[in-house]
Amino acid sequence: MEDTDLIIVGAGPTGMFATFCAGLRDINSITLESLGTHGGQMIELYPDKMVYDVQAVPKMKSSELSDKMYEQSMLFNRRIEFDSKVTDIIPENGKFTVEVKNEKKYTAKSILICGGVGDFHPNKIGAEGEDNYNGKGVYYAIKSVDDFKDKTVAIIGGGDSAFDYQMQISPVCKKTYIIQHNNTFKAAESSVDAVKKDSKAEIIMNNDVKKINGDGNTVKSIEIFDNTSNTSKSIDVDAVVIAIGYKVNPSIFKSLPIETNNRYIKVDHNYKTSVDGVYAAGDMANVSDEPKFALISVGGAEAYIAINNIKKYISPNASLFGGHSSSLNL
Ligand SMILES: Cc1cc2nc3c(=O)[nH]c(=O)nc-3n(C[C@H](O)[C@H](O)[C@H](O)COP(=O)(O)OP(=O)(O)OC[C@H]3O[C@@H](n4cnc5c(N)ncnc54)[C@H](O)[C@@H]3O)c2cc1C
Repeated sequence: MEDTDLIIVGAGPTGMFATFCAGLRDINSITLESLGTHGGQMIELYPDKMVYDVQAVPKMKSSELSDKMYEQSMLFNRRIEFDSKVTDIIPENGKFTVEVKNEKKYTAKSILICGGVGDFHPNKIGAEGEDNYNGKGVYYAIKSVDDFKDKTVAIIGGGDSAFDYQMQISPVCKKTYIIQHNNTFKAAESSVDAVKKDSKAEIIMNNDVKKINGDGNTVKSIEIFDNTSNTSKSIDVDAVVIAIGYKVNPSIFKSLPIETNNRYIKVDHNYKTSVDGVYAAGDMANVSDEPKFALISVGGAEAYIAINNIKKYISPNASLFGGHSSSLNL
């Protein structure tokens, strides 16, 4: 069993910056990532999209930004282990035993959970045919815009992801539908306004997708049910994008008596959880009961604060602030 000072769970943008910060503060760390690659949501959900709101990066494709973050995370030769899903964290005698896929174990003095939205189990709509056409026209994320070229696409959901996806693929699509089960949208007003102005977009409210039909190889149509008129109709589509969120996988908390709030891990202003030695940052952590700003830059700042507090937890005589990186000569 390998022993280290800190285990970081997740190599999304938050976990990668935390890995870099652990190096900056000379903390022995190992980062464990369940997927085969780094980047989290940036790679799993929107690798082709441009990101504009990360400091000092005016515009960059999400997949390239993830590569840059990985390069930065490796500056102090810290390790990120891929295909390493953390299945449990067990507190034992002031330390933690971290189980990976019930196969491998590590011990660590401290833990930083950067698990984001979990390990990507998208919510399903429960329509007939949904599983049959998964990967044959049913998508839970848009990885390549080219998959939708000249197609008629139904996007299910009313949140930011659904509207972002519509705006991303509309330029190459023949037509898009946004289908929402009630009469409100959670997406940003500006996105809703942009989609309403798009001549290739049709918004259908108060409708559930009941069935996804096809020829066995590809999607051909969907059947939708109008909750207000109790009527059904069929729409010809070539693809269905289901964007109704992700399940948070609580398995990593099984043996940790950690306080949560809805889908978030509760943290204080130092990003410490209710368990001494366990910290959380990024999309999975929240200091307040309000919905959080789930953003790359926010997760990065949280990781920075968490790591400096972890340094003090591991080495009580260390200073909280490790100094400016500009004083280094690497
Ligand atoms: C469509 C879309 C567009 C977006 N656009 C922007 C944007 O323009 N700008 C912006 O700032 N933000 C944007 N975001 C939000 C941004 O992607 C997230 O805030 C950010 O990815 C959060 O990073 P994270 O590292 O906290 O979590 P994630 O990116 O979710 O990464 C968590 C990582 O932890 C891993 N993990 C989870 N559980 C385990 C486990 N048990 N064991 C091991 N590994 C585990 C996951 O596999 C994943 O790799 C967007 C999000 C979406 C969905």
